[in-house]
Amino acid sequence: MTGRFEARVALVTGGGRGIGAATAARFAADGARVVISDLDLEPAEAVAAEIRRQGGQALAVACDVTDRTPVESLVERAVKKYGGLDILVTCAGILRDNLIHKMTDSDWDLVVDTHLKGTFLCAQAAQRVMVPARRGRMVFLSSNSALGNRGQVNYSAAKAGIQGMARTLAIELGPFNINVNAVAPGFIETRMTRAVAERTGIDYEDLKRAAAERTPLRRIGRPEDIAGLITFLCSDDASFVTGQTIYATGGPTV
Ligand code: NDP
Repeated sequence: MTGRFEARVALVTGGGRGIGAATAARFAADGARVVISDLDLEPAEAVAAEIRRQGGQALAVACDVTDRTPVESLVERAVKKYGGLDILVTCAGILRDNLIHKMTDSDWDLVVDTHLKGTFLCAQAAQRVMVPARRGRMVFLSSNSALGNRGQVNYSAAKAGIQGMARTLAIELGPFNINVNAVAPGFIETRMTRAVAERTGIDYEDLKRAAAERTPLRRIGRPEDIAGLITFLCSDDASFVTGQTIYATGGPTV
């Protein structure tokens, strides 16, 4: 396949579902060789198989992003298979919502470890390849919840932390021609938002309708909306953009 990411290698964590899967597909459609990693191999392999069926190149790898050793081997496998690593997108994510008086240590630890430590470990492993190559792009998934959201003290803290990480790494890695940005989506139709409906006992269609009604564009987001923004930030068109958090919420950020 040819396109704006031809000869580039992109690694997407959480790439087996939702926003990560749409992003992996978009990179492949635009010519990248894609490494799709997820907690379980099966969803990652399904995305990789579909990319290969359409003529692209993709490798699926199971990896828990909270654990240093598998993250380091994930990056090593990407480099071994495709000869380098140009792009890292961190989509691996999880929710354990609760009001503060009910939140357990494990709710806190799991969410902070997955989002914040997971992003740190992936970025650290990726920069080891990108710095010597003097080239790289990283996009981290933050969230509109970074601005505060009832029941998400763990998630909002982690997502706000990711924005700080993007700014700091933009400063540290900029001299090596590595751009680091964050993307903060609003309500996107994925398994994650469906799980919110299930947990709160609200019908998913009603939850989506309510979210669309309070959104200026009068719709909720699709994974492809976010994939388009992420791939733009990894493209040559965004080569002077770094250290930013771009909100994609269907309206202005409040
Ligand atoms: P999905 O649940 O559809 O996909 C997330 C993927 O990450 C799942 O396949 C999940 O596996 C995987 N994952 C969870 N924990 C780990 C781990 N420790 N190591 C590796 N992979 C892991 O979510 P979305 O596509 O909706 O979310 C993608 C990102 O976007 C997340 O960071 C999320 O916080 C963020 N986001 C999403 C929004 C939305 O409205 N959907 C809004 C704002 C931000 P499994 O299913 O097995 O748990």
